[in-house]
Amino acid sequence: MEEITALAKRRGFIFQSSEIYGGIGGFFDYGPLGAILKRNVKDAWWREMVERRDDVVAFDSSIIMHPRTWEASGHVAAFHDKLVDCRNCKHRFRADHLPSLDKCPDCGMSGTLTEPRNFNLMMRTAIGPMEDTSSQAYLRPETAQGIFVNFKNIYQSARKKPPFGIAQIGKSFRNEITPGNFTYRVREFEQAELEFFVPQDGNDLGWFEQWVAARKQWYSDYGVRPDRLRFYELTPEERPFYAKAGIDVEYLFPWGWGELESIAHRGTYDLDRHIEYSGKDLQFFDEATKAKYTPILIESSAGMDRTTLTMLVDAYERETVADGEKQSERTVLRFHPKIAPVQAGVFPLARNKPDLVERARTIEAHLRTRFRTQYDEGNVGQLYRRQDEIGTPFCIMVDYETLGDATVTVRDRDSMRQDRVAEDALSTYLAERL
Ligand code: ATP
Repeated sequence: MEEITALAKRRGFIFQSSEIYGGIGGFFDYGPLGAILKRNVKDAWWREMVERRDDVVAFDSSIIMHPRTWEASGHVAAFHDKLVDCRNCKHRFRADHLPSLDKCPDCGMSGTLTEPRNFNLMMRTAIGPMEDTSSQAYLRPETAQGIFVNFKNIYQSARKKPPFGIAQIGKSFRNEITPGNFTYRVREFEQAELEFFVPQDGNDLGWFEQWVAARKQWYSDYGVRPDRLRFYELTPEERPFYAKAGIDVEYLFPWGWGELESIAHRGTYDLDRHIEYSGKDLQFFDEATKAKYTPILIESSAGMDRTTLTMLVDAYERETVADGEKQSERTVLRFHPKIAPVQAGVFPLARNKPDLVERARTIEAHLRTRFRTQYDEGNVGQLYRRQDEIGTPFCIMVDYETLGDATVTVRDRDSMRQDRVAEDALSTYLAERL
């Protein structure tokens, strides 16, 4: 993790937030490449979950919602973690992360941990100029509730009937007691949530299975190593009382397995609660049968920061390669081409030769209309090393031959093989491989 964190900073993927002021725990910024990487991850989710389906509609709700929302959802009463302090070293822990409450894992003293007490993870804020209780609100701890409270607006305006889904990607906030493991556990993060509403026709578990399969396919399509991914089935004791089935998608990070996503059969719990608390009728009215019912909900809730981190960790490799006569080491990010922030780097063989520079710039500008490209110049070995480190699948070198026969060298990131390709065939060559 240390190597990956260092690379993330050096190459402009992820920075600590407010670094010049000493940083702030649980918050991170995405640099020039990280911002693209995360956008690509979100686009990949959006493409498969919304754009390629005719039964899922898009949504985007506000971060701050009516405070009653969080009473109805159960977050005010129960969105707690158990907090434990060490009276000796003053360190703070999540009780469920400790192997035992007898001994502090940091200072090793026995009998110094306090009794676990509830700590609500919702971040509070105040609306308007008066900071009294009537203006108190929360930053949403999940995006899903915006979908539930709008259920009727959405299905009526989109003219959808179950089975259909509503998807959104957006920021969520949780006052985590112990943020850590880089961007794995943070206090501000993005979630991609799909709320899929199905009829009460006995096929709800079938839909759950279909979504689990669809999500498996997604991770596989975007190249996550199958041996580092598992779909952990929650036991009835681990599930909320209203949930009929639940799966945690977990990735094997350098520190162990960690949750990326939860897929859950949530019954009718969420809509029922909002019907109860708002007094509004959020049931679905089926025009065909003239019957009203509360649809059953299948949810997929994935963290986009955790998925982006997964892509980084999963792609990271350090290997020894033959470098002429000798062996040398290289660091390479083997990003899936759809995820890679830069898809093709274009360089002139020498930066002090105006003909080569101009030709390389022209090629790069042309390819840029179709691919994510980057022009760079300098020492050839260093250019390749840099592009390997940021995970660029192809590098294009413009040399003296190019000026004569209009061909370029294309180097493949993974095999390091070099092909000679005609300039006017470059676009097709890349499209086929990316
Ligand atoms: P954890 O047990 O790790 O705290 P959770 O079970 O509370 O997570 P959910 O409420 O199921 O998480 O949220 C769905 C997804 O949102 C998670 O799988 C994760 O990817 C993401 N997520 C939740 N909390 C955080 C966080 N603090 N930082 C980054 N991502 C998060």
